[in-house]
Amino acid sequence: MNKNELIKVRIEDMTHDGEGIGHSGGFTLFVKDAVIGDTVLARVTRPKKTYAYARVEQVLEPSPDRVAPACPKARSCGGCRLQELSYEQQLAFKTNVVKGNLERIGGFSDVPMEPIIGMENPFRYRNKAQYPAGSSKKEPGKLTTGFYAGRTHDIIDIRDCLLAPQRNADILRTVLSFCEKNRIPAYDEASGTGLLRHILIREGFHSGDVLICLIINGRKFPKAGQLADELLALSPFADGAVIKSICLNVNEKRTNVILGNEVLPVFGPPFIFDTLGGFSFRISPLSFYQVNPVQTVKLYNTAVEFAGLTGSETVFDLYCGIGTISHFLARKAKEVYGVEIVPEAILDAKENAARNGLTNTHFFTAAAEDVAKRGYFDEHTPLMHPDVIVVDPPRKGCDASLLHTIRALSPERVVYVSCDPATLARDLKILCGEGDGARYELRRVRPCDMFPETVHVETVCLLSKLSEAKNHISVKVDMDEMDVTAAESKATYEEVQEWVQEKYGFHVSHLNIAQVKRKHGIIERENYNKPKSDDRRQPGCPTEKEQAIEEAMKLFHMIPAE
Ligand code: SAH
Repeated sequence: MNKNELIKVRIEDMTHDGEGIGHSGGFTLFVKDAVIGDTVLARVTRPKKTYAYARVEQVLEPSPDRVAPACPKARSCGGCRLQELSYEQQLAFKTNVVKGNLERIGGFSDVPMEPIIGMENPFRYRNKAQYPAGSSKKEPGKLTTGFYAGRTHDIIDIRDCLLAPQRNADILRTVLSFCEKNRIPAYDEASGTGLLRHILIREGFHSGDVLICLIINGRKFPKAGQLADELLALSPFADGAVIKSICLNVNEKRTNVILGNEVLPVFGPPFIFDTLGGFSFRISPLSFYQVNPVQTVKLYNTAVEFAGLTGSETVFDLYCGIGTISHFLARKAKEVYGVEIVPEAILDAKENAARNGLTNTHFFTAAAEDVAKRGYFDEHTPLMHPDVIVVDPPRKGCDASLLHTIRALSPERVVYVSCDPATLARDLKILCGEGDGARYELRRVRPCDMFPETVHVETVCLLSKLSEAKNHISVKVDMDEMDVTAAESKATYEEVQEWVQEKYGFHVSHLNIAQVKRKHGIIERENYNKPKSDDRRQPGCPTEKEQAIEEAMKLFHMIPAE
C-alpha cells in the first residue's frame, strides 16, 4: 500500500478515537472521517507494514447513521470527531467503548452495562472553553484563535464553536482586536516569545456569571483596564449573562500545560458562582468544574444512587475538586471526607460547604494516594472507617497504591466515576482481582454522555465488597510496608501485547517489550536483556512499536504517565 493511493473500503467498525476501520487486500485501514456502515474512497496518508492510516476522499455509499456535520469545521478541528455520526449511534459507540475496555483490559465477562445517559440537545453544552491564541499565517499582524487541528498545534480559526455558548465569539473578537490594535503579540510555542497564550472563558449556566481569564507569558498585560472596559461593554449579553470576573493567569513555562499557578484579578473577584442540584458553587479558574452542567447533575445523582446511602455512612470523596460530589453525597450520608490535590479547589470546596450550610463535610488538600499513608484523617477522627469510597480521578486514573489502600480500607462499596474507560478498566481489574485486602465485584456500569460529538465518555461504576478483608484496617495504612509494585499492579507481557494489537493492529514481541522496559530502567530477565553472544547485535525496537509499548506501559502504570 502506498501513500496517496485511493482505496475503496467498507467501514466495519470504529476505533476508540473515532476513526473508521476497514479491510482491504490484507491491510487494516484506519480512516479519518469515516463512520461505521460507510463505503468510502479512502486516500492513504500513512502506510505501514500491515495497516495504513487514511482519510475519506469521497463517501461512495453513506452509512444510514451518517449525518451532515452541524459545524463547517468539524473535519479539520480535532474536537468533534463524531459529528458525522447520528447522536443515537454516538451513544451506541460510547457504550461499546466502555464495554469493550472492561472486557479486554479489565478482563470482565458479562459486564453489567446499564443504558447510557444521553442528552436531549447535544450542542452548546460546554460551560468552559480554552482558546489558544496564535499569529495568523495568512494576514501578518492579525491574530487567530480557535481550536487545534487533530493531533497538531495548528490553530483552526473557529470563533463560534457549536459546543460552547454563542457569546464566546463576541468575547474572542473583542480580545483579539484589542491585541491587534495595541500590538500585543500572541505567544509562539516554537520560540517561547509573545504574550497571549490562551483565552479561557468559563460560565455558570444557571447563574449567568461569566469569567474571562487571559493566560499570558508574563505578569503584566498592557492596558488591561482598557481591555476590561471593552469587554464589560458587551455585558449583559443578549441571554442575560453578565461578566463578573476578568483575570490574568501567569504561565511563563514552555509547556503544553495551559494554566500556570498564579491568578491576577483585573476586574471583580477571581471566581464566579454557579448552582447545581440546589447547591451554590464558587469556581476559580484553577479549579476543576465539570464542563457539561446538564449532564453533571445526572452523573452525580447516579453516583449517589450507586453509593446506596442511608444516612449512617462515612464516605470518602477522593479527587473531589471543589467538593461538588461531596455536596450531593452529604445530603444522604453521615460524614463526607473530600480529598483533592489543587489547594485553590479545596478553598472553594470549604467555602462552598459553609455557604451551603453543610456541617458534615471535611476537605483536605492532598494527593488521594497519600492520604491514608500520611494518616490525614486520623488527626481528626481516629480509627475512622469508610463505608463507601467514591473516586473521580483525571484521565490517567488512580495511582496503583491508592487502589491497594482502598482494598486495605475495605469499604462496603466503591463508586468509580471515570472519564477514561481504559484506565477505568485497568483500575477495576486491580480492585476485583486476586490480592490482599477486600475484593470487589463489578455490579453496575452506567456510561453518561458528558461530551457529545467528541469521542470522550464518562462512566459511573458500582463495586461491592465480595468477601471480608483478611487484614481489615482503619485509615492508618503504612503504605511504605506495602509492595505497591506487586505483581497485580503490573501488566504482563501478554497484556501489553494484547493492548498494542487492539489499539494499533500490530504485533509486538516479548523482546520488543523487554527492550523498552530496559530503556526505562526496569530490570529485565537475563535472556531478554542480553544479546545472545556479545558480538552479535540485536536489532533495536522500531520506533513505532516502541511508542505503542510505552503508551501501554503508561496505561498499566509501569512507567509514569508524564
Ligand atoms: N469530583 C470532582 C473533580 C473531578 S476531576 C468533580 O466532579 O467536579 C479530577 C480532580 O482530581 C481534579 O480536581 C484534579 O485536580 C484532582 N486530582 C488530580 N490528581 C490528583 C491526586 N493525585 N490526588 C487528588 N486529587 C487529584
